Amino acid sequence: MIQTHSLSFTYPNGPTLVFPDVDVPQGAVLLLSGPSGCGKSTWLALVAALMAPSAGSLTVAAQPLNALKNVAADAWRAGAIGFLPQKLHLSSALSVYQNLVMAQWASGHSEDAGRIHAALHALGVKELAHRKPGQLSGGQAQRVALARAVLLQPRVILADEPTASLDDEAAADAVKLLLHTASIHQATLVIATHDARVAGLIPVGVEGQIGFQPLRLVRSQLPNA
Ligand code: ADP
Ligand code: MG
Repeated sequence: MIQTHSLSFTYPNGPTLVFPDVDVPQGAVLLLSGPSGCGKSTWLALVAALMAPSAGSLTVAAQPLNALKNVAADAWRAGAIGFLPQKLHLSSALSVYQNLVMAQWASGHSEDAGRIHAALHALGVKELAHRKPGQLSGGQAQRVALARAVLLQPRVILADEPTASLDDEAAADAVKLLLHTASIHQATLVIATHDARVAGLIPVGVEGQIGFQPLRLVRSQLPNA
């Protein structure tokens, strides 16, 4: 589902990040760990076709991403990738329901109330549909953002630091919810985190059944030419 080969990315006036190759099958869980600044968020942005690699190749959900640009990349991402960003980017002026409608519009779909309510229901936040994001707890807001991420049944779910600033109990809930949501959608799940607690929150059963890959990034920098 996610294959990379000799992938690297160079920020303008920034570091060159060189990533190890991965081959993550459908339905598997990839734990992308490593210290702050090692390139986890960059890797997620490459896999989501938000940025193009500087070198190397990657194929995600059967789509080679190297040649995919702009509008085509946006259309592909909307259907294939469910992104749970570190900063949730819920629009504070809109209700939870309206935030999900916006996501449907942004991906070229018309409003589908049934699907929105089903997604909110699956994540246990259906009764919050008419609240504004400012009236939600952190955990509730994350559930809403995850409902938005899986609205179009993506084959790949990318979660960036989903346990940041959560206490132990909430962190355990967040990981459990991600694993459960990914398994319902038979999606490949990537959890990018510098949080050492997360590895211990992925149950052994999960490792055995759907395939579990840990990938620890170390910061590798090449001199800029
Ligand atoms: P992580 O998510 O593992 O903390 P990032 O992928 O955010 O790491 O960043 C990897 C490296 O790239 C860091 O050294 C960071 O400072 C650098 N970096 C990230 N974004 C930019 C940018 N827009 N311009 C220049 N350097 C950047
Ligand atoms: Mg990051």
